[in-house]
Amino acid sequence: MSEINRNPEIKYTQLFINNEWLNSESGNTFETINPSTEQSIAWIQSADNRDIDKAVKAARLAFKRGSVWRTIDASERGRLLYRLADLIDRDIDYLVALITLETGLVYMYSMEILSLVVKIIRYYAGWSDKFHGKTVPADAANGQQKLLAITRLEPIGVCGQILTWNLAQFSLAVKLGPALATGNVVVVKPAEQSTLAILYVASLILEAGFPPGVVNIVPGYGQTAGRALAEHMDVDKVFFNGSTHVGRLVQLAAGQSNGKRLSLETGSKSPLIIFPDTDIDSAVLEAHQATFYYQGQTCCKPGRIYVHESIYNKFVDKSVELANKLVVLGNLYDPLTKFGPLIDGRQYEKVMSMIETGVREGARLMTGGKRWGTQGYYIEPTVFADIEDSHTIAREEIFGPVQCIIKFSTIDEVIDRTNNSDYGLNAGVFTDDINKALVVASELQVGKVAINMHSSFRVQMPFGGYKQSGFGRVFGKDCLQEYLEVKSVIIKINDKNLQE
Ligand code: NAD
Repeated sequence: MSEINRNPEIKYTQLFINNEWLNSESGNTFETINPSTEQSIAWIQSADNRDIDKAVKAARLAFKRGSVWRTIDASERGRLLYRLADLIDRDIDYLVALITLETGLVYMYSMEILSLVVKIIRYYAGWSDKFHGKTVPADAANGQQKLLAITRLEPIGVCGQILTWNLAQFSLAVKLGPALATGNVVVVKPAEQSTLAILYVASLILEAGFPPGVVNIVPGYGQTAGRALAEHMDVDKVFFNGSTHVGRLVQLAAGQSNGKRLSLETGSKSPLIIFPDTDIDSAVLEAHQATFYYQGQTCCKPGRIYVHESIYNKFVDKSVELANKLVVLGNLYDPLTKFGPLIDGRQYEKVMSMIETGVREGARLMTGGKRWGTQGYYIEPTVFADIEDSHTIAREEIFGPVQCIIKFSTIDEVIDRTNNSDYGLNAGVFTDDINKALVVASELQVGKVAINMHSSFRVQMPFGGYKQSGFGRVFGKDCLQEYLEVKSVIIKINDKNLQE
């Protein structure tokens, strides 16, 4: 393993439009902060509606009939994506260091995420020349006509991609990969808290040889740049990743502008159900790791852990023991460190307020619940037990290091209680009884169920929400459909007067 770069140089802070680095029209910048030290890292050019418009125009030009991008072979799109994946792989140490610096994701997890990013882009590179339409047995007036009926799969056009900060490179890969494999052009608006590593990827897009305007990366605030993208009259589609609240604003903006197509990846309160007929130690460990990974700032974190009453106390005690052992804080670059700070002061305040609400409403705080140290947005790994379904912490997403352990008695009861939620992203179930597991998997109103595990991203498996967790899918072949229009073409064959 090469030596860890603990002090990555900041190379790009401008907007990336039409393969050029530009300052924002307003000249405004925003500051990005190291969440572990609360020190400033850099000032980044901040886009407003004029910059978004410039990026959309560049993308539109790149998508024009007869342009390089519209006429290159599908396999060539794949080659460019493979090249991008190779370049990310080449610079992985630098990128990983940058992500850790900027987002507080500990070094060993940043490395895992970046390796997955490379895999995702290669996966979609492979799809570039492997999706296609169908021939269809369309009605032919009982043999009176001779028809050829086909469907064509065509790119949608200019796709806005609004990213959240948590695992942003991952989110970028799973949006860029399918959008470009299917021949679209994109304008990406990264989250304010996680921009530097995304801008570095822009430099690799340039180096890979993508034509100008195919990928534009335009940092800025949500209220200005994000909103301008969602409202833009010449954007054909927006794929939004973030909170349910902002997702609704994006829906509103799409509806009030040009009715652009939408996909939403939004909030969650994912259940994990533990039956007594399972290896408790494995279940406790998996629940612990999935809860505290990236300080609980993941969409698929188990937000509600339902444990059968016969093993409840044992499960809580073991969970508390693991949470207490996790308090290894400080140097994020140490390969042994597994826990870091929250992303920023706003997120820190939100999580602290949820912990206070949990205590006030009567849940039992078993461990944690306080700030750790004097600098950085650290909160101790926190475990709550004896939670009622009516408690706020049982219903609302806590995007932070808080484990909520809830008691249940019967399978029917736990299915109903689990489904009684505004959200439906993913779920996990632990049991040695495969029949029970499959009944639960079929009854839960969620986009993904993992059995005897919790978090289970696999690039080949579609992932996305039911209910207020959003709509549309990332990963797998299904994600290609998010970026495609289906066109029917029907041809009447003239079989009269055929020459011999
Ligand atoms: P957020 O909703 O505040 O911001 C997300 C993005 O939207 C940012 O780029 C932001 O600048 C932009 N934005 C803000 N206001 C906007 C507006 N009015 N118009 C357009 N864009 C705007 O996100 P957050 O709360 O910081 O992110 C965490 C949330 O993301 C959690 O709820 C988490 O569950 C969710 N998330 C979901 C998934 C999933 O797969 N379902 C994945 C990752 C994160």
